[in-house]
Amino acid sequence: MIPDLEQVRIDKAFDFHFISKDGKINKYVRIKFTEEPKFISDGGIKGINVGKLFFEKFQEKEQIAILWHEYYHKEFSWIFPNCNFLSKLFYEYWADKYSAIKNNINDCLNMLNIVKEIYNSLDNKEKRKYLKKHPPISCRIKRIQELKEKMENRK
Ligand SMILES: [Zn+2]
Repeated sequence: MIPDLEQVRIDKAFDFHFISKDGKINKYVRIKFTEEPKFISDGGIKGINVGKLFFEKFQEKEQIAILWHEYYHKEFSWIFPNCNFLSKLFYEYWADKYSAIKNNINDCLNMLNIVKEIYNSLDNKEKRKYLKKHPPISCRIKRIQELKEKMENRK
């Protein structure tokens, strides 16, 4: 469903078919590839971009979990036009939660654990840069783990 890095390099973009678990979302979105080596992904009004790390570090299920996270940013960034740091943090948690609920919670958790490995491999300067835009990855993992426990207790 997701092409590999070699295929994507040929035309620098691919279409991804978003189908949510509840069937309410059924939509093709063009995903752009950027060759920035230390870049996983981003999403916003202009669309979704993925980089080399997206292909090199993640398996297909986790790639899909990333795309759902970015889909949230793409669809809902209008909610936070000029947001402050705190709301940006919650915006990240909500994007994770969206990926967990609309797609798959275990894939979302696995994806976050790989992001954690990547984060741990960064130098201090890169870590500070990451933390300006994202909540600590351990907090993101904790939130999704708590959500998973809640969902399991409900069954
Ligand atoms: Zn995000």
